[in-house]
Amino acid sequence: MRAWAEIDIKNLEHNINLIKKISNNKDILGILKADAYGHGVVEISKVLKKNGIKIFGVASVEEAIELRKNGIEDDILILGCILSDEYDDIIKYNISITVASFDDIKNIEKTKIYPKIHIAIDTGMGRRGFFPESFLEAYNYIKKTKIAKIEGVYSHFSVADVEEEKEYTMNQLNEFERLTKNIDVKYKHISNSAGMINYLDKINCNLIRPGIALYGINTTNKKLDLKNVLKFKSRIVHLKKIDKPRYISYMKKYLAKEGELIATISAGYADGVKRAFSNKGYVKIHNVKCKIVGLVCMDQFMVSIDSSIIDKVKLGDEVIIYDENIVELANMIDTIPYELLTSLSKRVKRVYL
Ligand SMILES: *Cc1c(COP(=O)(O)O)cnc(C)c1O
Repeated sequence: MRAWAEIDIKNLEHNINLIKKISNNKDILGILKADAYGHGVVEISKVLKKNGIKIFGVASVEEAIELRKNGIEDDILILGCILSDEYDDIIKYNISITVASFDDIKNIEKTKIYPKIHIAIDTGMGRRGFFPESFLEAYNYIKKTKIAKIEGVYSHFSVADVEEEKEYTMNQLNEFERLTKNIDVKYKHISNSAGMINYLDKINCNLIRPGIALYGINTTNKKLDLKNVLKFKSRIVHLKKIDKPRYISYMKKYLAKEGELIATISAGYADGVKRAFSNKGYVKIHNVKCKIVGLVCMDQFMVSIDSSIIDKVKLGDEVIIYDENIVELANMIDTIPYELLTSLSKRVKRVYL
């Protein structure tokens, strides 16, 4: 295999159990959007289900249908928007949807399909959801007209992983609890992974919505024994000892020196090695950091082998593009681990351990 992702199911199960423990066994809505953050939704959903998770969150109707077609009969909530031509599938596949605006209400009213819904409140995320000022109007209207079955109300944190933003997050939380205190629905939920890690003792909801934490990544400063689930790997497919200064890769962005050992790795930006790592990132070979040199190409990139392992490396050696260092690497190119994981393309074979 030229490039693959090793997915450690034991670590995933460890994380599920840890989340159950720290949340005091609250119900968990397992976030499976974007192919389970690149981990492969078919396999991951099975593991979540086997470990007692009974509700799943996805972004779109297509993602929900994929789960249904792979044997998930439990509740599925679509967190994203629903377009009017998708309502038939909502009913056909028995999927819960998010109602986030009066436009959504109008659409549902027109279709007369009586869907299962969760109402979203925008307490500060600024994406979708009713403003706190109009939430009760929307809620009461749906109750009165019976155009949908309200299963839940929820909101979403925008800065729960940022310590300095505690006040903003607490305001979001207080607003949510004030608005939903006297409302009788099956599920109230606001906590993403960071909210769960940083604010759980302050949250009264009965459902949490972890995504990234399931996959073993902690985006907060709090210590937590999460275990990284995915390792992105590739191989050395070419080695050359530099005999005199020579340029490496497109646009001559790196000039290799005499004596340097340059390895070509068989993965590129079409696999999910972000081009921003050009001349910036590093990979691990024999557990030693080796710098990425020159521009990352579509299917390959080059690294300069660290002098400590020059005598050890050989063709075919395994290269770790990232594992538990994913947060550090994402920071290095001003992005987040979510983007790295969801950039892994179809060409990267998922291997389940
Ligand atoms: C993606 C998403 C989550 C999960 O977020 P993490 O940071 O991965 O835990 C939770 N809720 C909503 C609405 C989301 O869109």
